[in-house]
Amino acid sequence: MHSDVKSINVKNSWSKEERAAREEEIQTMANIMKNSQLVDLCFLIDCTGSMEPWIDAVKDGLLEIIANITKAYKDCSLRVAFVGYRDLSDKVPFSIYPFTTDLEELREWIASVRAFGGGDKCEDVHGGISKCLKLDWKNPTKMLFHITDSPSHGANFHNGCLDDYIHFDGDFKKIDELLDGILQNRIRYYFGSIEDSTTKMISVFNQRIARNLKNNQLDWEITRTEVPKGDLQNFVSVLTESVSTSITTTVKIGKEKRTLKQFTINTLQPSWADLEWKDVKIRTLKFPKDKRSLKEVFQGEMKKDIQEGKIKISEHPFAKGGQRIAFYGISHLFDFHQKTLRAETLVALKESKWEGPRQNNKRYYTDFIEVQSYASFCAFKFNKKIEEFTTKKLKFLKVKFFSIMEKDYPRYLLLEPYLKGDYHKLSNNWNYVASKNVDEEFINLSQCFSHFTLDATEGYALVTDIQGVIVDSEIILTDPAIHCVDITRFGGTNLSKAGIDQFVGNHECNRFCKLLNLRPLSI
Ligand SMILES: [Zn+2]
Repeated sequence: MHSDVKSINVKNSWSKEERAAREEEIQTMANIMKNSQLVDLCFLIDCTGSMEPWIDAVKDGLLEIIANITKAYKDCSLRVAFVGYRDLSDKVPFSIYPFTTDLEELREWIASVRAFGGGDKCEDVHGGISKCLKLDWKNPTKMLFHITDSPSHGANFHNGCLDDYIHFDGDFKKIDELLDGILQNRIRYYFGSIEDSTTKMISVFNQRIARNLKNNQLDWEITRTEVPKGDLQNFVSVLTESVSTSITTTVKIGKEKRTLKQFTINTLQPSWADLEWKDVKIRTLKFPKDKRSLKEVFQGEMKKDIQEGKIKISEHPFAKGGQRIAFYGISHLFDFHQKTLRAETLVALKESKWEGPRQNNKRYYTDFIEVQSYASFCAFKFNKKIEEFTTKKLKFLKVKFFSIMEKDYPRYLLLEPYLKGDYHKLSNNWNYVASKNVDEEFINLSQCFSHFTLDATEGYALVTDIQGVIVDSEIILTDPAIHCVDITRFGGTNLSKAGIDQFVGNHECNRFCKLLNLRPLSI
């Protein structure tokens, strides 16, 4: 009952056709990765009265933002535009600079933009968005960064601000058309929120987008980011991170056919007493205990581990990520050694937020467990080597999976410890390396860790896409990717040699690489 000799991964049993299809898919992914680093970034800025410091912030921060982004994404190429808007009654309602790669010239021009006018509290947000849509968008990654301290005209968009056009867009016709334009052009819309007076507007915009999303092919919404009043320094960080996320998101949406599941987020825990226990068999992979090298472990297999227990699952997810939704759960697992049931623990249960041929099947979950287990084993080996040089550690969450029957079909869920904290992305599965907002020691450790995995497996596999939550001196990681020369392994994020080459071409060895005597990389 406890263990099984068979391994989860079935190696090398693919047909010639399956291999060819996978090769082609990797090639397509690699191309999308490359193209996604061509970015159109448009600033949509309220240029009325109180906004002068923010115009200056864009001007002063522009070069730093670009420098940060190109540091994070080595092949990134950006075009930047600026749309300033004021109010319906203002003599100069707009100040517009079309997309350009000449950032020095754009900076000089922004320096000449003045904040004036406005009158009442509300401004012509609709007009601003409309001007943005008329720009010549053409790069694969498109993003709009909107910053204002005032809502749009119309009672629909604010809670009783001073508004000379209170009946404006009463039937949402204008805004629906504009947001549809944003959607059709696949423009990622980021909103930098300075004041609470804009909260209703953005939530109404998001409700309209959700209403108008056709056949749920996308999960699109305006990302609202707090930009505390007066904190111009933070503004640069917020922007850098937004662009980084945009690039990654573009890659993910390019990938496959799927539809968004229907769900409502509820952050409250359910009343557990009202929910039924379900008997489950929880599967994961076991770390090998023998003395094989990391390379031998990778080329071999890890054994299955099966545990019995009971689970309760909340009806609604409490959070949504780029790929998955997370439900609260409580688990009551059978302890094999003690021959008793362990105490109930709060866990996070995750499933794909998409419906599609690749989503709700066993393979999706076994691939996930395989990637996480091998990465976790690498981290275990890595920490042993690095512990004499630092008190910081990289750890992967212990992830398992199980299925329950629902309406005659199995529903698969990942199970992991419930974890709270700030989420950080240190690298992606291509050439992104974080440069801001995270303790540099963690960035260096994570880069060294990836190098270590490639070194220890002698070029067979690379653990990358390092992301997670920092808890004291540890970063608890989840959802890595493994690029492996064997294309039949480690799921859809395995970009094989193309992914390994990207890392090798971009990686800069740091002090940890040297302390561990890792061999220098070369293609
Ligand atoms: Zn290195």
